[in-house]
Amino acid sequence: MIAVPRPPAADPLEAFTEDEVRACVDYAKPRQRWGLAAYATDLLVLAILALTGPGRALVRGAAGLAGGWAPGRVVLATVAVLAVRAAVGLPFSIRAFRQDTRAGLATQGLGGFLRDWAKGRAVGLVLTVVALSALVLGARWQPPGWPLVAAFAAVLLVLALAMAGPVLIEPLFNRFRPLGPGPLRIRLLELAATMRVPVSDVLVADASRRTTRVNAYVSGLGRTRRVVVYDTLLAAAGPEVPHGPGTPAATPGGADEVALVVAHELAHVRHRDVLWGTTGAAALAAVSVLVAVALFDLGQVQRAFGVTGLGDPVAAPGLLLLAALGGLAATPVASAISRWAEARADWVSLEVTRDPVTAVAVERRLALENRADLRPNRLLLLLFATHPTTMARIAQAWLWAERH
Ligand SMILES: [Zn+2]
Repeated sequence: MIAVPRPPAADPLEAFTEDEVRACVDYAKPRQRWGLAAYATDLLVLAILALTGPGRALVRGAAGLAGGWAPGRVVLATVAVLAVRAAVGLPFSIRAFRQDTRAGLATQGLGGFLRDWAKGRAVGLVLTVVALSALVLGARWQPPGWPLVAAFAAVLLVLALAMAGPVLIEPLFNRFRPLGPGPLRIRLLELAATMRVPVSDVLVADASRRTTRVNAYVSGLGRTRRVVVYDTLLAAAGPEVPHGPGTPAATPGGADEVALVVAHELAHVRHRDVLWGTTGAAALAAVSVLVAVALFDLGQVQRAFGVTGLGDPVAAPGLLLLAALGGLAATPVASAISRWAEARADWVSLEVTRDPVTAVAVERRLALENRADLRPNRLLLLLFATHPTTMARIAQAWLWAERH
């Protein structure tokens, strides 16, 4: 285990001008408030559907369209809950899109945005219907070994998603192509070799069709493992890669920035962060299933949700409410672990590239182009932030420079 020093975050005015800080904060704060409002509204909708008479009547009415056929009732109850959530959530999503358009971050029109939104909802619908139907129908039929079988199935589902997501789900939203031949590709593959991370390719996602935001990520397990960079990030890396529409022209130092970002992603690969994250999610899924089975056996819970047990075809709203509350409870822990892994990946990328000046430049660029919240609320940070703040990351790069 490597020791990752965590300097206290510096003041944003040490790395940004007052105008830059204001531009970021003026964008980020309202977006955050509306994001929280959307989240709270979603929980409220679930509570109404699961706990109130009219909410339950609506779900029962939808389920009743399948007559007495239990699998159909389970599916329709789940679809009803997700449809209401989607309908209530859509205005919030459109508001966020309009804010992105005003800020110049969106590169597609409302039609394209709605298509992406619908695709995202459809993927969520399929996955939720499969998982919930299996759980509820399993509870009805009680196969031998239940509920451990259900917990095991949840683990398998999470693993399958982590492995298949990059090849089945991500291509629904973006096209991926291998980074074209040229000095940048050679440099990145050399970087991977130096870091002893076996990587055969760096993939480029056509993020510029949707956004001007810059990003990179790793996903997949085993054969589906990949390092992906947004084409928006490459726009400044030189002429060996084509520019996306609406992306800025090449600037000197762009290749160094891409190398630094990729070094950060390769650090995730080297430390198996995707595998550990997936393992954590799988364990959480297994525990959640066992807890749900136990809770739905309790008379009080059955009365609160107005169901006869987990095998009740209209158990969906109660299950989804429990899942949402469980997710809310798990988020601070998951976020803290994620922040720690991100700080480690930052530190490793500094050790490998030995280039703190570019590290600071990258953080500045990420913050300015993505309109990061440069004056984050400490409580929200503690609860939800998956990455250290911009200023914490910059302070870490400064600390590295000081020590070397
Ligand atoms: Zn990262």
